[in-house]
Amino acid sequence: MAKGIWVIVEQRDLQIRKVSLELLSQGRKIADETGETLVAVILGKGIEGLAQTVSSNGADKVILVEDEKLAEYTTGAYTSVLNKLIRKEEPQAVLMGNTAVGKDLAPRLAQRLGVGLASDCTGIEIDANSFMVFKRPIYAGKAFEYVASTVRPILATIRPNTFALGTPDTARTAEIVKETADIDSADLRAILKEVAIAASKRPELTEANIIVSGGRGMKGPENYVILEALADVIGAAVGASRAAVDSGWREQKFQVGQTGKTVAPTLYIACGISGAIQHLAGMGSSKFIVAINKDPEANIFNVADYGIVGDLFEVVPILTEEFKKL
Ligand code: FAD
Repeated sequence: MAKGIWVIVEQRDLQIRKVSLELLSQGRKIADETGETLVAVILGKGIEGLAQTVSSNGADKVILVEDEKLAEYTTGAYTSVLNKLIRKEEPQAVLMGNTAVGKDLAPRLAQRLGVGLASDCTGIEIDANSFMVFKRPIYAGKAFEYVASTVRPILATIRPNTFALGTPDTARTAEIVKETADIDSADLRAILKEVAIAASKRPELTEANIIVSGGRGMKGPENYVILEALADVIGAAVGASRAAVDSGWREQKFQVGQTGKTVAPTLYIACGISGAIQHLAGMGSSKFIVAINKDPEANIFNVADYGIVGDLFEVVPILTEEFKKL
């Protein structure tokens, strides 16, 4: 019996994260292919208004769990609620974004449920025997692993920008179910006191559609203004290599790579980055890679779709001016 594909919808300040909508869009396709029901699960406070958005984006059913203690994400409260809901409803698969929240919640939940977890996946295939097979990069992106499980539910976190957003259909109406939050007090060991968000007009690195990244070739922190100028014209986030971060030029939260953020934008523009394997591990699944490097032998050109051999201090301002004309 079909018990559903669940998407745990991530929201902050009642704004649904893009990766959750991507998962709903892909989940809709899988549900149509397999005859499963697509269920969106939203935890939070004042979340009722989000039901229509997830319904428009493909959900057949929406489970809302509303509680003051769920207003902000905390590992304990969210694990407590989802563990019980999943045990009660027995979905086939539970998907969430490979975000800071997903990376924290999914392993804890998998442990509670006694099931496996496919983390940081970059693809889902449908297999007649195993139902969902998850593709995930391993060895810093040098190989792919395909993970299937006979145990239900299958838990997986999916890298943002893996799937395209669908076109919302506002005429869709999903069944809405309200569940009470059953939170074990033993799970509330950590209390969230404050959330400090750095204000930025640029998109968040892991969700950005375009990223302009600078490495050691930037030569100093003051030179990132030329990347920021380009980023502002094309609506990009600004990333950095570890060499730039270790030099103190950029904050660690902007580092792309094995020990930084994993990104998969449509367009990644690498400026003054040599293309070390640890950097590629974080951005190799970008759809289009453009490299600007004065060394024609730089490894980044081996993965780039378009390469510009030149001095970034000349090339980047020209690109900015040209994009302004579009
Ligand atoms: P470099 O390798 O020094 O390259 C600079 C490039 O800039 C060169 O190719 C040069 O030709 C070019 N250049 C210089 N001047 C100009 C100019 N004017 N115009 C155009 N091009 C110019 N690295 C990461 O990035 N992310 C990680 O998460 C990460 N994790 C790591 C984890 C481990 C365990 C280890 C061992 C390493 C890790 N590294 C990581 C480091 C990685 O190995 C590289 O040292 C690093 O990525 C190099 O950064 P870079 O390309 O900016 O610098």
